[in-house]
Amino acid sequence: MGDDVLKNMIKSAALVFAVFLIVSACTPAASDNSSEISETTVPVVTDTTTLPSTSAETTTTSVPVTQPTAPPAGIVYLTIDDGPSSLTPLFLEVLAEKQVRATFFVTRKEDEELRPYYRQIIDAGHQLALHSASHNYSQIYKDIDAFFADYGDIQEYIYHLTGLRLSAYRFPGGTSYPHLLRPLRDDIFARFREQDIPYYDWNVSSGDGAAAMYPPEKLVTHVVDGVLGRGAGAESVVLMHDADNKPSTAEALPEIIDRLAGAGYVFDILENLKIPVHQRE
Ligand SMILES: [Zn+2]
Repeated sequence: MGDDVLKNMIKSAALVFAVFLIVSACTPAASDNSSEISETTVPVVTDTTTLPSTSAETTTTSVPVTQPTAPPAGIVYLTIDDGPSSLTPLFLEVLAEKQVRATFFVTRKEDEELRPYYRQIIDAGHQLALHSASHNYSQIYKDIDAFFADYGDIQEYIYHLTGLRLSAYRFPGGTSYPHLLRPLRDDIFARFREQDIPYYDWNVSSGDGAAAMYPPEKLVTHVVDGVLGRGAGAESVVLMHDADNKPSTAEALPEIIDRLAGAGYVFDILENLKIPVHQRE
Protein backbone atom coordinates (compact mmCIF):
# COMPACT_ATOMS: atom_id res chain seq x y z
CA MET A 1 0.00 0.00 0.00
CA GLY A 2 2.70 2.49 1.08
CA ASP A 3 4.77 1.52 -1.98
CA ASP A 4 1.84 2.29 -4.34
CA VAL A 5 1.38 5.74 -2.86
CA LEU A 6 5.10 6.41 -3.24
CA LYS A 7 5.07 5.12 -6.86
CA ASN A 8 2.09 7.33 -7.72
CA MET A 9 3.80 10.33 -6.21
CA ILE A 10 6.96 9.65 -8.26
CA LYS A 11 4.85 9.16 -11.42
CA SER A 12 3.02 12.46 -10.81
CA ALA A 13 6.25 14.32 -10.15
CA ALA A 14 7.80 12.89 -13.34
CA LEU A 15 4.73 13.92 -15.34
CA VAL A 16 4.80 17.47 -13.98
CA PHE A 17 8.51 17.70 -14.79
CA ALA A 18 7.97 16.40 -18.33
CA VAL A 19 5.19 18.92 -18.94
CA PHE A 20 7.45 21.66 -17.61
CA LEU A 21 10.21 20.61 -20.05
CA ILE A 22 7.81 20.62 -23.02
CA VAL A 23 6.34 24.00 -22.12
CA SER A 24 9.82 25.49 -21.65
CA ALA A 25 10.94 24.16 -25.02
CA CYS A 26 7.88 25.54 -26.81
CA THR A 27 7.88 29.03 -25.30
CA PRO A 28 9.91 31.49 -27.39
CA ALA A 29 12.41 33.68 -25.59
CA ALA A 30 10.21 36.50 -24.41
CA SER A 31 13.11 38.91 -24.24
CA ASP A 32 13.77 38.98 -28.02
CA ASN A 33 11.79 42.12 -28.72
CA SER A 34 11.44 43.50 -25.26
CA SER A 35 14.05 46.21 -25.64
CA GLU A 36 12.32 47.47 -28.76
CA ILE A 37 8.90 47.37 -27.16
CA SER A 38 9.86 48.95 -23.87
CA GLU A 39 11.94 51.73 -25.40
CA THR A 40 9.08 54.19 -25.24
CA THR A 41 5.77 54.21 -23.53
CA VAL A 42 3.97 56.87 -25.56
CA PRO A 43 1.46 55.18 -27.89
CA VAL A 44 2.00 57.62 -30.76
CA VAL A 45 5.17 55.96 -32.09
CA THR A 46 4.47 52.84 -34.04
CA ASP A 47 7.91 51.80 -35.21
CA THR A 48 11.46 52.26 -33.98
CA THR A 49 13.27 50.46 -36.78
CA THR A 50 15.78 52.33 -38.92
CA LEU A 51 14.72 53.48 -42.32
CA PRO A 52 15.74 51.36 -45.29
CA SER A 53 18.01 53.01 -47.82
CA THR A 54 15.49 52.85 -50.63
CA SER A 55 12.02 53.63 -49.44
CA ALA A 56 10.37 52.48 -52.64
CA GLU A 57 11.44 48.87 -52.50
CA THR A 58 11.32 48.01 -48.84
CA THR A 59 8.60 48.30 -46.29
CA THR A 60 9.25 48.18 -42.60
CA THR A 61 6.84 46.34 -40.41
CA SER A 62 5.06 48.42 -37.82
CA VAL A 63 5.76 47.22 -34.32
CA PRO A 64 3.42 48.91 -31.87
CA VAL A 65 5.42 50.26 -28.98
CA THR A 66 2.64 49.57 -26.56
CA GLN A 67 0.19 46.79 -27.17
CA PRO A 68 -3.12 48.62 -27.45
CA THR A 69 -6.16 46.67 -26.37
CA ALA A 70 -8.34 48.46 -28.94
CA PRO A 71 -7.35 49.32 -32.52
CA PRO A 72 -6.26 52.95 -33.00
CA ALA A 73 -8.86 55.53 -34.00
CA GLY A 74 -6.87 55.91 -37.23
CA ILE A 75 -3.38 56.43 -38.62
CA VAL A 76 -1.99 59.90 -39.25
CA TYR A 77 0.87 60.48 -41.69
CA LEU A 78 2.30 63.94 -41.08
CA THR A 79 4.00 65.19 -44.23
CA ILE A 80 6.21 68.27 -44.12
CA ASP A 81 7.01 69.84 -47.50
CA ASP A 82 9.46 72.33 -49.00
CA GLY A 83 12.24 72.04 -46.41
CA PRO A 84 14.81 72.02 -45.20
CA SER A 85 14.57 75.52 -43.77
CA SER A 86 15.77 77.39 -40.70
CA LEU A 87 12.73 75.87 -38.94
CA THR A 88 13.67 72.21 -39.61
CA PRO A 89 15.44 71.85 -36.22
CA LEU A 90 12.26 73.02 -34.49
CA PHE A 91 10.18 70.39 -36.33
CA LEU A 92 12.72 67.73 -35.37
CA GLU A 93 12.71 68.88 -31.77
CA VAL A 94 8.90 68.73 -31.47
CA LEU A 95 8.69 65.33 -33.19
CA ALA A 96 11.44 63.91 -30.93
CA GLU A 97 9.74 65.24 -27.83
CA LYS A 98 6.41 63.75 -28.89
CA GLN A 99 8.06 60.57 -30.22
CA VAL A 100 6.29 60.85 -33.54
CA ARG A 101 7.73 60.01 -36.97
CA ALA A 102 6.90 62.12 -40.02
CA THR A 103 7.73 62.29 -43.73
CA PHE A 104 9.76 65.22 -45.06
CA PHE A 105 9.42 66.04 -48.77
CA VAL A 106 12.51 68.10 -49.44
CA THR A 107 13.87 70.26 -52.24
CA ARG A 108 17.44 71.20 -53.16
CA LYS A 109 18.84 73.72 -50.68
CA GLU A 110 22.50 74.65 -51.05
CA ASP A 111 22.88 76.82 -47.94
CA GLU A 112 25.68 75.66 -45.67
CA GLU A 113 23.34 75.92 -42.66
CA LEU A 114 20.65 73.71 -44.23
CA ARG A 115 22.76 70.94 -45.76
CA PRO A 116 23.18 68.88 -42.54
CA TYR A 117 19.41 68.76 -42.02
CA TYR A 118 18.84 66.13 -44.74
CA ARG A 119 20.94 63.63 -42.80
CA GLN A 120 19.50 64.72 -39.46
CA ILE A 121 15.97 64.01 -40.68
CA ILE A 122 16.98 60.45 -41.56
CA ASP A 123 19.01 59.91 -38.39
CA ALA A 124 16.01 60.95 -36.29
CA GLY A 125 14.04 58.05 -37.85
CA HIS A 126 11.85 60.05 -40.20
CA GLN A 127 11.24 59.35 -43.86
CA LEU A 128 13.08 61.63 -46.28
CA ALA A 129 11.43 61.88 -49.70
CA LEU A 130 11.77 63.89 -52.91
CA HIS A 131 9.81 67.05 -53.72
CA SER A 132 11.76 68.28 -56.80
CA ALA A 133 15.04 70.18 -56.89
CA SER A 134 13.77 73.60 -57.93
CA HIS A 135 10.06 73.61 -56.97
CA ASN A 136 9.65 75.85 -59.99
CA TYR A 137 6.34 74.81 -61.58
CA SER A 138 6.88 76.22 -65.07
CA GLN A 139 10.35 74.68 -65.23
CA ILE A 140 9.48 71.22 -63.84
CA TYR A 141 6.20 70.80 -65.72
CA LYS A 142 7.57 72.12 -69.07
CA ASP A 143 7.96 68.63 -70.58
CA ILE A 144 8.90 65.12 -69.59
CA ASP A 145 12.64 65.65 -70.05
CA ALA A 146 12.56 68.75 -67.87
CA PHE A 147 10.58 66.86 -65.24
CA PHE A 148 12.97 63.90 -65.05
CA ALA A 149 16.05 66.14 -65.22
CA ASP A 150 14.76 67.85 -62.08
CA TYR A 151 13.83 64.51 -60.48
CA GLY A 152 17.38 63.20 -61.15
CA ASP A 153 18.83 66.41 -59.78
CA ILE A 154 17.21 66.16 -56.33
CA GLN A 155 17.84 62.40 -56.21
CA GLU A 156 21.57 62.90 -56.93
CA TYR A 157 21.84 65.81 -54.51
CA ILE A 158 20.44 63.74 -51.63
CA TYR A 159 22.61 60.79 -52.62
CA HIS A 160 25.63 63.08 -52.49
CA LEU A 161 24.69 64.38 -49.02
CA THR A 162 23.40 61.17 -47.40
CA GLY A 163 24.53 58.18 -49.47
CA LEU A 164 20.87 57.19 -49.95
CA ARG A 165 19.17 56.89 -53.31
CA LEU A 166 15.57 57.82 -52.60
CA SER A 167 12.68 57.49 -55.02
CA ALA A 168 9.40 58.33 -53.24
CA TYR A 169 8.03 61.59 -54.60
CA ARG A 170 5.49 64.34 -54.04
CA PHE A 171 4.69 66.55 -57.02
CA PRO A 172 5.14 70.27 -56.26
CA GLY A 173 1.56 71.51 -55.94
CA GLY A 174 0.31 67.90 -55.89
CA THR A 175 -0.96 65.91 -58.86
CA SER A 176 -4.00 68.23 -59.17
CA TYR A 177 -1.81 71.26 -59.74
CA PRO A 178 -2.99 73.21 -62.83
CA HIS A 179 0.50 73.22 -64.45
CA LEU A 180 0.63 69.41 -64.43
CA LEU A 181 -1.56 68.76 -67.45
CA ARG A 182 -2.23 65.83 -69.72
CA PRO A 183 -0.53 64.31 -71.65
CA LEU A 184 2.55 65.17 -69.54
CA ARG A 185 0.91 63.91 -66.36
CA ASP A 186 0.06 60.54 -67.92
CA ASP A 187 3.57 60.19 -69.35
CA ILE A 188 5.13 60.84 -65.93
CA PHE A 189 2.75 58.38 -64.22
CA ALA A 190 3.61 55.74 -66.85
CA ARG A 191 7.34 56.16 -66.23
CA PHE A 192 6.78 56.11 -62.45
CA ARG A 193 4.91 52.81 -62.81
CA GLU A 194 7.65 51.39 -65.04
CA GLN A 195 10.33 52.33 -62.52
CA ASP A 196 8.23 51.48 -59.48
CA ILE A 197 8.40 55.03 -58.10
CA PRO A 198 5.71 55.74 -55.50
CA TYR A 199 4.14 59.20 -55.29
CA TYR A 200 1.95 60.68 -52.60
CA ASP A 201 -0.67 63.42 -52.44
CA TRP A 202 -2.61 64.27 -49.26
CA ASN A 203 -6.19 64.08 -48.02
CA VAL A 204 -6.00 66.59 -45.15
CA SER A 205 -4.54 70.07 -45.57
CA SER A 206 -3.31 72.17 -42.67
CA GLY A 207 -4.05 75.27 -44.75
CA ASP A 208 -0.57 76.69 -44.11
CA GLY A 209 0.05 76.95 -47.85
CA ALA A 210 -2.61 79.65 -48.13
CA ALA A 211 -0.90 82.40 -46.14
CA ALA A 212 2.46 82.88 -44.50
CA MET A 213 1.28 84.12 -41.12
CA TYR A 214 -1.51 81.66 -40.52
CA PRO A 215 -2.64 81.62 -36.87
CA PRO A 216 -1.42 78.37 -35.23
CA GLU A 217 -4.87 77.79 -33.64
CA LYS A 218 -6.42 77.71 -37.11
CA LEU A 219 -3.88 75.14 -38.29
CA VAL A 220 -4.66 72.95 -35.27
CA THR A 221 -8.39 73.14 -36.00
CA HIS A 222 -7.91 72.41 -39.72
CA VAL A 223 -5.81 69.35 -39.12
CA VAL A 224 -7.73 67.91 -36.17
CA ASP A 225 -11.15 68.46 -37.79
CA GLY A 226 -9.81 67.15 -41.09
CA VAL A 227 -8.46 63.94 -39.56
CA LEU A 228 -11.48 63.31 -37.32
CA GLY A 229 -13.80 64.07 -40.22
CA ARG A 230 -12.36 61.17 -42.21
CA GLY A 231 -13.98 58.70 -39.84
CA ALA A 232 -12.89 55.79 -37.71
CA GLY A 233 -9.94 53.72 -38.89
CA ALA A 234 -9.03 56.06 -41.78
CA GLU A 235 -5.50 56.78 -42.97
CA SER A 236 -4.98 60.54 -43.06
CA VAL A 237 -2.11 62.11 -44.97
CA VAL A 238 -1.67 65.63 -43.62
CA LEU A 239 -0.03 68.37 -45.70
CA MET A 240 2.15 70.89 -43.85
CA HIS A 241 5.09 73.09 -44.80
CA ASP A 242 8.59 73.66 -43.49
CA ALA A 243 9.41 77.14 -44.74
CA ASP A 244 11.20 80.15 -43.23
CA ASN A 245 8.14 82.35 -43.66
CA LYS A 246 5.67 79.90 -42.05
CA PRO A 247 6.61 79.71 -38.35
CA SER A 248 2.99 78.93 -37.37
CA THR A 249 3.24 75.34 -38.57
CA ALA A 250 5.97 74.19 -36.17
CA GLU A 251 4.25 76.24 -33.48
CA ALA A 252 0.98 74.40 -34.03
CA LEU A 253 2.57 70.95 -34.25
CA PRO A 254 2.72 70.03 -30.53
CA GLU A 255 -0.99 70.66 -30.07
CA ILE A 256 -1.89 68.88 -33.31
CA ILE A 257 -0.04 65.79 -32.08
CA ASP A 258 -1.43 65.98 -28.54
CA ARG A 259 -5.03 66.39 -29.70
CA LEU A 260 -4.84 63.53 -32.19
CA ALA A 261 -2.92 61.20 -29.85
CA GLY A 262 -5.47 62.05 -27.15
CA ALA A 263 -8.24 61.01 -29.54
CA GLY A 264 -6.58 57.61 -30.02
CA TYR A 265 -4.69 58.19 -33.28
CA VAL A 266 -1.24 56.80 -34.02
CA PHE A 267 1.39 58.30 -36.32
CA ASP A 268 3.49 56.67 -39.00
CA ILE A 269 5.66 57.39 -42.04
CA LEU A 270 4.36 57.22 -45.60
CA GLU A 271 6.25 54.14 -46.68
CA ASN A 272 3.89 52.24 -44.35
CA LEU A 273 0.75 53.74 -45.92
CA LYS A 274 -1.60 50.92 -46.89
CA ILE A 275 -3.89 52.56 -49.48
CA PRO A 276 -2.29 55.03 -51.96
CA VAL A 277 -3.43 58.63 -51.62
CA HIS A 278 -3.53 60.05 -55.16
CA GLN A 279 -5.59 63.02 -56.28
CA ARG A 280 -4.85 61.97 -59.88
CA GLU A 281 -3.53 58.74 -61.29
ZN1 LIG B 1 5.81 72.15 -52.17
